[in-house]
Amino acid sequence: MNARLLTQGGFIEKQAAGIYNFLPLGLRVLGKVNNIIRDEMNKVEGQEIFMPVLHSREIWKATGRDQSMDGVLYRTRGTDDQEFVLGPSHEEVVTPLVKTFIKSYKDLPLAVYQIQTKFRNEPRAKSGVLRGREFGMKDMYSFHLTEEDLDAYYDRCKIAYTNVYERCGLKSYMIEASGGAFSDKFSHEFSILTPAGEDTILICDKCGAAQNIEIAQGKYAEPEDFGEDGKANAKEKPLPMKEVEAKRGPSIEAGCELHGCPAWKILKTVVYEVEDDGLVGICIRGDLQINELKVEKYFKKQIRPASPEMLKKAGLVQGFIGPVNMPAKVKISFIGDHSIKNVTNIITGANAKDVDIINVNIGTDYTVEDFADFVQVRGSFKCGKCGGALREEKAIEAGNIFKLGTKFTDAVSFTVTNKDQKQVPVFMGCYGIGNTRLVGTIVEACHDENGIIWPKSVAPYHVHLITLGNDEEATKKADKLYEELTEAGIEVLYDDRTDSAGVKFKDSDLIGLPLRIVISKRTLERDSVEWKERAPSTDGKPSEAKNVAFKDVVKEVVKFVKD
Ligand code: ATP
Ligand code: MG
Repeated sequence: MNARLLTQGGFIEKQAAGIYNFLPLGLRVLGKVNNIIRDEMNKVEGQEIFMPVLHSREIWKATGRDQSMDGVLYRTRGTDDQEFVLGPSHEEVVTPLVKTFIKSYKDLPLAVYQIQTKFRNEPRAKSGVLRGREFGMKDMYSFHLTEEDLDAYYDRCKIAYTNVYERCGLKSYMIEASGGAFSDKFSHEFSILTPAGEDTILICDKCGAAQNIEIAQGKYAEPEDFGEDGKANAKEKPLPMKEVEAKRGPSIEAGCELHGCPAWKILKTVVYEVEDDGLVGICIRGDLQINELKVEKYFKKQIRPASPEMLKKAGLVQGFIGPVNMPAKVKISFIGDHSIKNVTNIITGANAKDVDIINVNIGTDYTVEDFADFVQVRGSFKCGKCGGALREEKAIEAGNIFKLGTKFTDAVSFTVTNKDQKQVPVFMGCYGIGNTRLVGTIVEACHDENGIIWPKSVAPYHVHLITLGNDEEATKKADKLYEELTEAGIEVLYDDRTDSAGVKFKDSDLIGLPLRIVISKRTLERDSVEWKERAPSTDGKPSEAKNVAFKDVVKEVVKFVKD
């Protein structure tokens, strides 16, 4: 949607997939977005700099990212065979740069930022300016003597980021990011809700918490929440377990059908191959799904679902695997999701073809090596913090902040002298906002079927001044109003083309400036202009056009723009 509206409206023009020209209108919006970002970064003492795009390959080798980011790097070389990387990010440049100037604890903390073009070979560059191969980013880097100082600064940046989005007319949700499978909570994403988003996030309207579905935690229904059956189960006494014939398919649904029970009464065991650790069965309640990222985090290793061949080779019977009666010769361990604890007399496969075991109870009939949270949280769950209802929404990641610790400063041996004249490591944070993505995000969040609805703060112009017909008097008056508004500091886009009212109004809606002022022979008869706001009125209906007396127009426009 952003690509279509921005292109039709004359803001951008595609050069190739993920590569765009910014035209005069688009550049004005980008400039306004940049100035909002600048202002907020300056408020947290960021100092603006400008680093090169062309990076010597050597500095990328030094941090190991020449290899680890191989897939996204654009590389180039000149005639002398010296190799370069087109910067996808600037940690490799900024860290040695700051090291040159900062020698003592007295020089810290320091934060520098730039608004620069980045290059990334994105495999899926097809969402307009949301995912470019060449795109704009504000990237700030902060340097600290202690981890506590980094933490405090990081918290200030959270507020600065929220301010940026709010000033761009957007509501942002700050969410803990997964930061890759093996990392802990040291990064946050700022998400804007729109159906065009690539991410799915879960929002609790009661406490306001937002989470990425990839790592979300939440409360699932317990047996007693499942009506009479569940209530009965919660009171049920454990019965002796019993093998039963089970001619069925391998799915949970097939088990439900055969035993005439709901999915939550079945124990589901999914087998994974854990790097260097062999086979592990994750046991979870049959109605729930496993979040594999959580499994990877638990083992801090790569995992993959065991293939049917692998299961067979290990002596396991697909569709009938479970933690009870496992033949001693099979090498597998079991870890339980917490959800299996509260079901009495659960049903599982018996590790033999067409045999199930009913009335299985943990502790009495089987054990697992450990319990952990492996559950894939969905919108049907309740908030883990306050119990409120969750809803699943699509969102765009419009910014990202990280505590980098000493990863990059260690790579270039960047230390400072502390008060005791000892060399100590420097802690670093980085803070990114995709400014070109933000332009696209605003369009995704602020449009209707007729075009863009720019928030006043980032609109390329405040007023769309339109003349209709070729009335000489109207043109004269409009010329004069243009001069007066401009003198009053109002940014006016003046459409004095001879096209029809239909064409001009259609373009005006598409371009989406906050205020449309029309002057024609008819409005002059009442010594007024026609005033129409682009944004819907507070009840969500399109704003009505109204007449404003000529003598009041400048005053009213100044008031409108300031509000
Ligand atoms: P994504 O998960 O969307 O690929 P990322 O984690 O790679 O983002 P960072 O490297 O943290 O993003 O970059 C900081 C910000 O730059 C992001 O929050 C996003 O707003 C923006 N950004 C990242 N990649 C692109 C891109 N290809 N096109 C436009 N903006 C981007
Ligand atoms: Mg990326």
